[in-house]
Amino acid sequence: MSMAQTPEPKEWILDEENELRIEIDFDTKVKLRLVTGTAEIFGTELGQNVDYEFSGRKIAIFTWHGCKLLVTGTCSVEYFAAETPMVSYLNMHLALEQRRVLASQGNNNGQGPRVLIVGPNDVGKTSLSKMLLSYGLRQSRQPIYVDLDCSEGSITMPGCLTATPLTEMIDVEEGFGSSATSAPTAGSAVMPLAYYYGFPSPKDNTKLYNVLLARLAKSVKRRLDEDEAAKKSGIVIDTNGLIDATGYEIIANCIKEFAVDVIIVLGHERLFSDMTRLHQKPGVSVVKLAKSGGVVERDSSFRRLTQNQKIREYFYGTAKSELAPYSTMINYHDVEILRVGEGSLAPSSALPIGEDRKVSETHVVKVEPGEHLLHSVLAVSNADKMQEPEILETNLAGFIYVSEVHEARKKLTVLSPCPGRIPKKFWWLGSLKWAED
Ligand code: ADP
Repeated sequence: MSMAQTPEPKEWILDEENELRIEIDFDTKVKLRLVTGTAEIFGTELGQNVDYEFSGRKIAIFTWHGCKLLVTGTCSVEYFAAETPMVSYLNMHLALEQRRVLASQGNNNGQGPRVLIVGPNDVGKTSLSKMLLSYGLRQSRQPIYVDLDCSEGSITMPGCLTATPLTEMIDVEEGFGSSATSAPTAGSAVMPLAYYYGFPSPKDNTKLYNVLLARLAKSVKRRLDEDEAAKKSGIVIDTNGLIDATGYEIIANCIKEFAVDVIIVLGHERLFSDMTRLHQKPGVSVVKLAKSGGVVERDSSFRRLTQNQKIREYFYGTAKSELAPYSTMINYHDVEILRVGEGSLAPSSALPIGEDRKVSETHVVKVEPGEHLLHSVLAVSNADKMQEPEILETNLAGFIYVSEVHEARKKLTVLSPCPGRIPKKFWWLGSLKWAED
């Protein structure tokens, strides 16, 4: 972090229903303090006179009743806005809350809303998910957050499809990170249910994506059957921004598998009209919400830096709760490194006769360890034996990072957030690399 001079705090007085929008670069830290009034960040309330610290984030501090804020440090963007769609987002929450009340009274088989949020990239889907979940939590609900955005990894690492039962407020500074992530050693955190996909876009291996989506839905359903509070609270599903033919296919699949009954379309007229035509029916409502003017488009370098920050936090924790990762030496032959869908890279004509492309897309291939693994992040499967296709649908125990490769000695040095031997043998290799800084 730069050791620049500490600038004077800047005071912001916001009227009711206004928000302060700030963007903070990755190499700076900005402190925020609520001095008077009330304010929230993506639904989570700020405490008065607490210093919150941010780096590499784009956020809005919204107030329902007016507030005074102090911002210390240099933001790359900083302005306030009086026009926001927040009232419509709150109304959306109230409508969901009504469904929860109905569920509590035994209607709809006692099931709370299953909400799907769709829209193109960078319209605020993840931010809206956070708000709807936070508002639910603030009313003592315990919703489940389903994240199907494999490119981002709000919950664990990019490349996964996850479901997280939420019971505690989403942390202002750490986002979903604290409510779920990483290190099972991190204390109260509930380990999310995660399945490994390993590609940045659902397009890269749609067949596998749909298999995992169905698997995740099955696990969520089981959880809802066992957990009365979660069942009444319902689920919020955040999606990837894909809205072409493949995207439509995935959305339809998702609606079926999760028995979605509320579809929220964010900031896209045509998508709204298509969703209404294709999916609106008795018991399923399609709702249109406006995109906030504050949502920022993230370029590839910002996304890359966010990804790096995520990986770093998984192993080292955050400024608030630091972790010391464990470094372990592993023999090549103690682990099996796997990759999925290698065959999908080959042209169909190169496949063995009788084996069609679809089959090879979910075929598991063994990877020889070697120098190429250096700086890779691998997902550790909970599987105990190599059995196809079951291994694909086995959830994850966590992640490791390859910090050194000793080719001559046939060993790897890996970092993991848990102490001791790495108990699991099967590691998935995706496209994630991380150079420690
Ligand atoms: P999507 O999930 O649709 O891709 P996000 O919710 O991740 O979109 O929003 C994109 C970026 O804009 C994120 O960095 C998010 O923190 C930021 N953002 C969202 N809403 C606001 C807002 N009202 N003011 C400032 N930044 C915002």
